[in-house]
Amino acid sequence: MKILIVNAGSSSLKYQLIDMDDEKTLAKGLIERIGIEGSKLTQRVDGEKFIVETPMKNHVVASEHMLKALTDEKHGVVKNMDEIGAVGHRVLHGGEKFTASVIISEPVIEAIKENIPLGPLHNPANLMGIQACQEVMPNTPMVAVFDTSFHQTMPPKAYLYGVPLEYYKRLRVRRYGFHGTSHRYVSARAAEMLGKKKEDLRIITCHLGNGSSITAVDHGKCVDTSMGLTPLEGLIMGTRSGNIDPAVMQFIMNNDKIDINEMLEILNKKSGLVGISGVSSDMRDVEDAAAEGNQEAQYALDMLDMGIKKYIGAYAAVMGGVDIIAFTAGIGENGPELRSSVMKDMEFLGAKIDEEKNKVRGKEADISAPDSKVKVLVVPTNEEIVIARDTLELVTNA
Ligand code: ADP
Repeated sequence: MKILIVNAGSSSLKYQLIDMDDEKTLAKGLIERIGIEGSKLTQRVDGEKFIVETPMKNHVVASEHMLKALTDEKHGVVKNMDEIGAVGHRVLHGGEKFTASVIISEPVIEAIKENIPLGPLHNPANLMGIQACQEVMPNTPMVAVFDTSFHQTMPPKAYLYGVPLEYYKRLRVRRYGFHGTSHRYVSARAAEMLGKKKEDLRIITCHLGNGSSITAVDHGKCVDTSMGLTPLEGLIMGTRSGNIDPAVMQFIMNNDKIDINEMLEILNKKSGLVGISGVSSDMRDVEDAAAEGNQEAQYALDMLDMGIKKYIGAYAAVMGGVDIIAFTAGIGENGPELRSSVMKDMEFLGAKIDEEKNKVRGKEADISAPDSKVKVLVVPTNEEIVIARDTLELVTNA
């Protein structure tokens, strides 16, 4: 079966068509600037690019162009859309309702709508993507895969905040966690790489990209994760502050006479690597600046490094030890310098890397030193394949 994976943003739509017989990606596409001037579709098939520049006023029109591109006589990969057996949609927030992926039905759409207050930017965009695809492919089964569902196994002591419990009971204020599809894939793949069962292991997965989160996976189940009610909590990220004392907000707001929206804009968009370094939100730029002697860029790198170390230490303590530390996403897969500084002086935990092996970028690798008790791995993430596998399983067993 061929499965289409859709990841819809407010003005963008990413897609991938995967042939599940051999899990090969047949085509990958990105539609940008939906609803704004300069709409553009870029599709890649075997490294060859196909570009369509035409107005796309909404996601329905964008989805029509996606199907046209996939079935294009010259640049397409299928003859007609009946060859697409199912569609898997990435959805940000499943709240507490969704502990696993589900076939999309009216009640599921309603539940995703109910979670809009928890994912105000993403859930409406994800819904638009679902509804647009339903309109152009009314007979194709669709599945929703949530970024939050892997983390639903966390116990209350991990997901509750120390505020009056009433806020959880009334408003469902709690830690949800994100990047769940990535943490799930990487933890399972890490176990597989070592020829072991994930149910026998304690794994810490470090997803370090523009957005970053770390998860403790204890015998196959998430027991804690660094992101919270929203993706703002945890490590410092490209533009997000990560953990701060909440009173910092009142202090800044009173002094600078700004409101909570402006404050959150600062914490989400102007903090983290870019806010500290003043250089960029991109790790490569910050590393280059630090190498040239920029002290503030160095602070940003040191803060990220220490933040990761603290989570690794904390999660090892929570699980009573750790068997695997896995690095993934843009920085985790491609940043030997950061991996090296994070893993420095971790012998107390039984973890040591081999600097030669650590030079790897973007490939699966065991970078542990021969005498390291803890295996340290680089595992490129593959959220699309998880979405595709879940979709196949659900539609086959429906
Ligand atoms: P997103 O969260 O948007 O999916 P990615 O996982 O693509 O982000 O990660 C983007 C980050 O990865 C950027 O900070 C980028 O600088 C970093 N990155 C990509 N390649 C390298 C590299 N070769 N060395 C260090 N960092 C890198």
